[in-house]
Amino acid sequence: MKQSEIAVVGGGIIGSAIAYYLAKAGFQVDVLEAGEVGSGSTQAAAGMLGAHSEYKEFGTSLYPFARSSQKLYEEAEAAIRSLTGIDIERRTGGLLKLVFKEEERARLLELCSLEGVTWLDHASLTDKTPGLAESVLGAVHMEEDVHVTPAIACNGFRSAAQVLGAEIHTYTRVEKIGKEAGHYQLQTSKGKWQAERVVIASGVWSNSILEQTGLGSSIFPVKGECIAVTNTQAPLRCSLFHDQHYIVPRNNNELIIGATKVENDWTTEPTLGGIQTVMEKARQMLPGIDEMPFRRSWAGLRPQTFDGKPLIGEHPEMKGLFIAAGHQRNGILLAPATGKMIADLLSGNDVSEEWKEAFRVDRPYSNEEVLL
Ligand SMILES: Cc1cc2nc3c(=O)[nH]c(=O)nc-3n(C[C@H](O)[C@H](O)[C@H](O)COP(=O)(O)OP(=O)(O)OC[C@H]3O[C@@H](n4cnc5c(N)ncnc54)[C@H](O)[C@@H]3O)c2cc1C
Repeated sequence: MKQSEIAVVGGGIIGSAIAYYLAKAGFQVDVLEAGEVGSGSTQAAAGMLGAHSEYKEFGTSLYPFARSSQKLYEEAEAAIRSLTGIDIERRTGGLLKLVFKEEERARLLELCSLEGVTWLDHASLTDKTPGLAESVLGAVHMEEDVHVTPAIACNGFRSAAQVLGAEIHTYTRVEKIGKEAGHYQLQTSKGKWQAERVVIASGVWSNSILEQTGLGSSIFPVKGECIAVTNTQAPLRCSLFHDQHYIVPRNNNELIIGATKVENDWTTEPTLGGIQTVMEKARQMLPGIDEMPFRRSWAGLRPQTFDGKPLIGEHPEMKGLFIAAGHQRNGILLAPATGKMIADLLSGNDVSEEWKEAFRVDRPYSNEEVLL
């Protein structure tokens, strides 16, 4: 039987960031991943770190948590580069939340009281972003809502964790979890595993393990479809965002165009209808997109919870069993703060009481939605 001090179940961006922060804190970590690292929702993401663009409430626990994560990316980027040589492609330039109607302007102007958020009128916008639709009245510029390339960021956390001593076991699916003589016993597709402590970070697939621990099915899929085109026109320096749709520039000159929202759909192939929806939205923002060569399309499953907040914390009855899942459309943004919070909880370091309460894994059902 194989043995770990800490077994992390799932090697997406959340499991990989957790492995990095745990290894950095000196723990012996094994990541058990059912397929390839980063092959779940993580590879489908656009990679926006949208602490300002994603939420409708800024006084709640989620916004400071998201901001702390945005800031942690700065040091994670440098640490990953120095440990592994990997550049996670954290692009500055920020995000433009576009305004097409007067009533949108009034609502978005309120955001300008937040740090790093400013209003730009049409004239200053077209200087900054050539090719923008004439019908855009202006935009709120969210300077710190930068983005990374998710698959590379995930690989960066994974590789940095390995340099710090973590071991990654791909094609190792955890099928059952139990506890005997004070140790967790994991039945995996590659045999039995024993661990002193376990972190469940299996994204939208976490329910199958959570159900075995009496926690129920609190995570459901929200399918998102995207396309990529080659940018043959002026370079885009900021991400463009309107009505939950976006265009995100990559270092390789691709524009990522997304994304649909289809609840409770477990399929992972894009549909023609989905592609049409994202194209129409993108065309409204940047009409020249019609001329750009199509590269590829894909879909992924966001791990959604009933109230929009992730589940991060210890199981109420099974001591030493931790959960970090349900980050829905902000898992890339929230990965460093989640990894650090789990490492702090396992190390016995101070963690904000407000965050512990907000992300409690057995919190009561509420349909109060915190996302836009
Ligand atoms: C179209 C789209 C666009 C998005 N854009 C953004 C964005 O711009 N910004 C942002 O912050 N977020 C974005 N997201 C959300 C983000 O992708 C997710 O929140 C994030 O990837 C979740 O990470 P995760 O590690 O929890 O899950 P995953 O990446 O799905 O990883 C879970 C891993 O667990 C493994 N696994 C599952 N079951 C088991 C098991 N039993 N045993 C072992 N391993 C198991 C899986 O193989 C998988 O690799 C987007 C998502 C989609 C779909």
